[in-house]
Amino acid sequence: MKVNQLLKQENWSVEELAYLIGLTDEADCEALYKAAYAVKERYIGRYAYFRGLIEFSNVCIKDCLYCGIRKGNEKAERFCMEREDILHMAQWAYDHRYGSVTLQSGERTDEPFISFVEGLLRDIKKIGDGSLGITLCVGEQTEETYRRFFEAGAHRYLLRIETSNPTLYSTIHPQNSLHSWQTRVDCLYRLRRAGFQVGTGIMSGLPGQTALDLAKDIIFFRDLDVDMIGMGPYVVHHDTPLGKLVEEKGLNTKEEQWKRLRLGLNMIAATRLALKDVNIAVTTALQALHPRGREWGLRAGGNILMPILTVPEHKKKYLLYQNKPSMESTEMEIRDMLVADVERAGDTVGFGKWGDSPHFSRQK
Ligand code: SAH
Ligand code: SF4
Repeated sequence: MKVNQLLKQENWSVEELAYLIGLTDEADCEALYKAAYAVKERYIGRYAYFRGLIEFSNVCIKDCLYCGIRKGNEKAERFCMEREDILHMAQWAYDHRYGSVTLQSGERTDEPFISFVEGLLRDIKKIGDGSLGITLCVGEQTEETYRRFFEAGAHRYLLRIETSNPTLYSTIHPQNSLHSWQTRVDCLYRLRRAGFQVGTGIMSGLPGQTALDLAKDIIFFRDLDVDMIGMGPYVVHHDTPLGKLVEEKGLNTKEEQWKRLRLGLNMIAATRLALKDVNIAVTTALQALHPRGREWGLRAGGNILMPILTVPEHKKKYLLYQNKPSMESTEMEIRDMLVADVERAGDTVGFGKWGDSPHFSRQK
């Protein structure tokens, strides 16, 4: 298959997408990123939007085998940010014209947690007279809870399917009803019914995952008609069962990390080519694998960045994976670094804008 020929097409079969995702030759990858960037330019413009990320608690009832804040990791020091601190960070985001914030945490389904989040949403909504967009990322909940969150003012929700392959999903999660692939899919539909702009995504570079699995993930996004996608490479955390397995197999070398980074970039590019007008986040995990990871993610077709706003005291405790970047930096330094990444990629930050995806706006 000739890469350049393939990149001239407007639509691709699942096999063709898998071929593009699996590219390893540097010139081929460059051609792929260039084509994807041209699609971003055409459908989104050369803009990147900021969503200030507030990781407000690492308390979690689940035990995903890859995640550093899983319940079973006794070494994780648990925290939940105070309401005032969260509001302070949201105000900071507004004052620095971030346009939107994302509230993320471990999963909890108890009523005190739900009403805490609900109250927060109402308070954040008051900042700037409701002008701050709010994305929520607090895992699987009942439809009623999702409705409460929507009523309280969140309008976007991010819930990664992690992989669209149920068999692969079962190898990276415990085998019990709390970790059911089908429930996760059901939740995506519940969110849609509750009125949210729905975002999902996956991790790339998981042990046992193939390029065809990843191509099918893109088809999954398309069939679900999602508005935004947040995906990134899997990054090892050594105090997790999956992290230990990957290290034992010698799969956490620099070379393997480089492969996972390239796969992450190829996945952004192939998704941009196939889905065209959706929002695609360039996640921190890319940066964890290489200092220029974020800039490359923008060049490969991503258009959303999530600068971390979590207070320094807690940042180190919200450790989903190792090498989380910018641990010592202040919010302002992080903002400046991200602006520099955007400029190096040749884009402009859409300050003060919600940055909803053209895909979503088109449906309204
Ligand atoms: N508890 C919520 C939100 C926080 S976790 C939830 O699970 O939906 C947010 C995302 O972090 C997860 O969806 C997962 O894709 C990602 N993540 C967790 N551990 C990771 C790791 N080791 N490497 C890369 N991404 C990881
Ligand atoms: Fe909890 Fe989310 Fe980590 Fe799973 S991925 S253990 S639900 S924080």
